[in-house]
Amino acid sequence: MICLRCGFCCNHLDVMIINPRSIRPDGTIDPGDQNSMIGKPNGRKCPHLAYLGEVAVCTIHDLSCYRGTPCDRFDQFGPEDTVCVLGGYFKSSEPAKL
Ligand code: SF4
Ligand code: SF4
Repeated sequence: MICLRCGFCCNHLDVMIINPRSIRPDGTIDPGDQNSMIGKPNGRKCPHLAYLGEVAVCTIHDLSCYRGTPCDRFDQFGPEDTVCVLGGYFKSSEPAKL
């Protein structure tokens, strides 16, 4: 799946994310930390999401704690070389701004 870096999934999905408070300076989390994963509800911007202009960036994407998270494993059905359709869906389902 080719990501268009719109950031819509990071705003609109209910997903378990790494607790920002649990990230150690080396990018890992303590395996014994019971609060290392927190829920990010639908409609709330992920605390790890930033924008470079209009390009969405996951600020923990390259940290080792990101590996194996639901976000890391997120994909959609279909061929690997097709563009993500989720962003377009979320965009079309947002209420029109008058
Ligand atoms: S952790 Fe990264 S990929 Fe996951 S919702 Fe937050 S910004 Fe998006
Ligand atoms: S909705 Fe799709 S294109 Fe937009 S950031 Fe998420 S994965 Fe990428």
